[in-house]
Amino acid sequence: MEFEELVCYSQTVILVLLAIGYIINLRKGGNEPSQKVERKCPSCSYRIPDDNVNYCAKCGELISHSVGLSMEK
Ligand SMILES: [Zn+2]
Repeated sequence: MEFEELVCYSQTVILVLLAIGYIINLRKGGNEPSQKVERKCPSCSYRIPDDNVNYCAKCGELISHSVGLSMEK
């Protein structure tokens, strides 16, 4: 393979990679802009839609904002 062919080939690869990245960005942009961490009730796995709500609307289980902290059961 000659040098010019190699350059042409690598440029094509870069263009393809750029196109793929562009498509991925487009698909990401189609989703909601703010990525919220979905919180679920530890007892019944009910999804907590509101970030300000500290309890499960289904079973009333309290949900702590900081999961890492140790809580007495
Ligand atoms: Zn629950």
